[in-house]
Amino acid sequence: MKKIFLIPLAVLLLFSMTACNLLPEITGPLERPPEPEASVERELSAEPVHEHTWVEADYWTPKTCTECGETEGDPLPPNFETLGLTVSEMDVPHRYASVTYNDYSIPTVGEVTATDYKIIESDETHEAKEGYEWRIVTLKYHFFDENAASDGWRTSVIYDDNYYAFDLETTVGFSEGENENDGEEEAKRTVNFMGEGFEIEEKDETVRNEWVGQEAYFEKVYSFQVPIGYDGMMITCYNPANKLSALNDGNETALEKDLIDENTVYFRLD
Ligand SMILES: [Zn+2]
Repeated sequence: MKKIFLIPLAVLLLFSMTACNLLPEITGPLERPPEPEASVERELSAEPVHEHTWVEADYWTPKTCTECGETEGDPLPPNFETLGLTVSEMDVPHRYASVTYNDYSIPTVGEVTATDYKIIESDETHEAKEGYEWRIVTLKYHFFDENAASDGWRTSVIYDDNYYAFDLETTVGFSEGENENDGEEEAKRTVNFMGEGFEIEEKDETVRNEWVGQEAYFEKVYSFQVPIGYDGMMITCYNPANKLSALNDGNETALEKDLIDENTVYFRLD
C-alpha cells in the first residue's frame, strides 16, 4: 500500500515541475504576436476614416485641420502687402500733399513725421487692461508754403487702419463717418488677431497747433490699446481733398480721386 501511494506522488511532482518550466515558453509566443498585428490594423483602418476638418487660413495660421493639426499652405499675406503699398519710415519727415483750409482747389504741400513711438502697459493717462498694451505715436505736421500761409491748411487721417485686413473699400467706408474723427476723443472697435476678436480702444490728443511766423505746426498723439503683440495698427495720412473725405465735409467740388493715392503716407505701429 505504501509503495503504490508513492508512485503517483512522484509523477505528480515531476509533472508539476515540467509544467512550470514549460508554461512561460508556451504562453509567451502564443499571446504576444496578436498585439502588434492588432495595432497595425488599427492604424491602417483609422486613416481612411479621418476626414480633415479644415479651418481656413488667416493672416497668422495656415489652413489647419482642427482634429489632427495637419496644415496646408501658408498663412494669408497681409492685404497691405498684396496691394503693393509701402509703409513709411518713422522719425523722418515725409512729403504730405494737402489743400488749404479755405479752398480745396488750392494745394499746399507740407511734411508729416511719425515720432516718439512707444509701447507701454499703462501710465497716468492710459489705463492698464489685462492682455493688452498701449501703442502710442505722435504725428507732427509742418506747413511752410505760401498757400498754407495765406489760406490755412488741412490734414486727414484714417487712424485705425489695419495692416492685415487693409481694404481699399473699407478704408473708403471709414471716411464716411464713424471712424474718421476730429471731434470724438475715444472710439472702440474690434480687430482680429490670431483668429480671435479683440476690442481695441483708441484716443487722440492735439498737443500743438500754432503758427510760428509764416509756418504752421500741428501735433497730435494717437494711442491704441491693442492685444499684446498686435502689430497691425496703421495711421494713413491722405489728402483731405480726395473724394468722400471732402464731400463728407460738405465740399461739392471734391476731387474725383480715390481716398488713397500715390501721395498717401502710411505709418505702421509694429
Ligand atoms: Zn485631420
